[in-house]
Amino acid sequence: MNEIVFSDYTLRMVSDADIQHAGQVIRDGGLVAMPTETVYGLGANALDADAVAKVFAAKARPSFDPLIVHVADAAAAWSLVDLDALPETQRHLPGVLAEAFWPGPLTMVLPKREMVPGIVTSGLETVGVRVPRHPVAQKLIAAAGVPIAAPSANVCGGSSPTRAEHGTVDGDVVLDGGPCDTGVESTVVGFDPGGLVVLRLGGLPVEAIERQVKQQGGGVAVTVATPTSSPSEQPQASPGRLDRHYAPRTPMRLIEKLEQLDPASLGNQRVGLMSLRGEQGRGMGFAVAEVLSATGDLTAAAARLFEAMHRLDAAGLDLIVAEAVPEQGLGRAINDRLRRAATAAS
Ligand code: AMP
Ligand code: MG
Repeated sequence: MNEIVFSDYTLRMVSDADIQHAGQVIRDGGLVAMPTETVYGLGANALDADAVAKVFAAKARPSFDPLIVHVADAAAAWSLVDLDALPETQRHLPGVLAEAFWPGPLTMVLPKREMVPGIVTSGLETVGVRVPRHPVAQKLIAAAGVPIAAPSANVCGGSSPTRAEHGTVDGDVVLDGGPCDTGVESTVVGFDPGGLVVLRLGGLPVEAIERQVKQQGGGVAVTVATPTSSPSEQPQASPGRLDRHYAPRTPMRLIEKLEQLDPASLGNQRVGLMSLRGEQGRGMGFAVAEVLSATGDLTAAAARLFEAMHRLDAAGLDLIVAEAVPEQGLGRAINDRLRRAATAAS
């Protein structure tokens, strides 16, 4: 069907009628590409296993990679999960984090209730839930009246779309909400007997979570899980942590500091640069350069990251050289995505 609902180009307003229609499409078992503040998602009724199966098919997403379920508010999230199944010392934590960070780019992985179909969670006994902040996503969830399972709207393993036109997978309806303002996927946290585990770095800085848990967490520890390259190594781990993820098609090399790059090593290749401020790259012979934030603002850089990757990928390059950014705040999520993109390409 592929009906594209383009919004008013200057205001990027999706009309209420568009959203009501899209909500009906979700209820009828169809797919809707929707903006969220992190990236564009391809959404389906999370409680309809057949609809969710279409998402996996459209994305060529491996069935072991579970989807995040998007809901209207914390109460809707709690209706899908069983907080009593958490260790007693941690039971208060989801509420604390929801209060502090929802709506926003935080996904909580919690013990699921029966009603959540296994296809959503790839057979895991847990489900990832999130309350998105983007007004179009919020209105769509309200219009659909059901929780919406949605992975990023790209073909699996590729870079995530942060604009409607990046989506290489179309839904039955595409809601164009303009560019995403966070620009990297949500931060995913899980609850282990040992404490809170950050399973995937993302749009909510780890430091913010640590601060909140320190204040209100009753001494619960926060750890950051390291990425793994093989799903079989840690079958219960968060699959979005696979090394091969978030990749452009063009080969990519990640370097810590541009000064370490010997321009002669690039030979006659057409090479593009992606860096935070870009000034070091001048005169080094790059065909194109993407500057993520001239002022070095890591939040602004995260919002531009995937857009820059998409643009470089379309520039007919032999190689993309990416320079790592400072490892703090959203810089950690940016470096994480760059590392995976570079791993996938090698
Ligand atoms: P996305 O790629 O943005 O659609 O996010 C999906 C990612 O969320 C997965 O690849 C996992 O990393 C994480 N996730 C979702 N549900 C779960 C779950 N039940 N257990 C662990 N991680 C999950
Ligand atoms: Mg994804």
